Amino acid sequence: MKKLPILYKSKSECSGCSACFNICPAEAIAMQEDSEGFEYPVIDDNKCIRCYKCIGVCTK
Ligand code: SF4
Ligand code: SF4
Repeated sequence: MKKLPILYKSKSECSGCSACFNICPAEAIAMQEDSEGFEYPVIDDNKCIRCYKCIGVCTK
């Protein structure tokens, strides 16, 4: 199995734009609210088919 993509290393690298969430063909990404009310994508290891479309769409 290929590696699970890493969308961001720290929250400062992610604007929470949801582009990765929207493009994922496997519905493997969920936008989860943090304690401050900002949403960040979280990948479900079991659903992810390692297509890396989420990495391609992210503009950060
Ligand atoms: S690699 Fe593909 S399947 Fe996995 S989270 Fe990214 S877009 Fe979804
Ligand atoms: S596409 Fe990039 S910046 Fe946008 S929510 Fe996903 S990881 Fe964050």
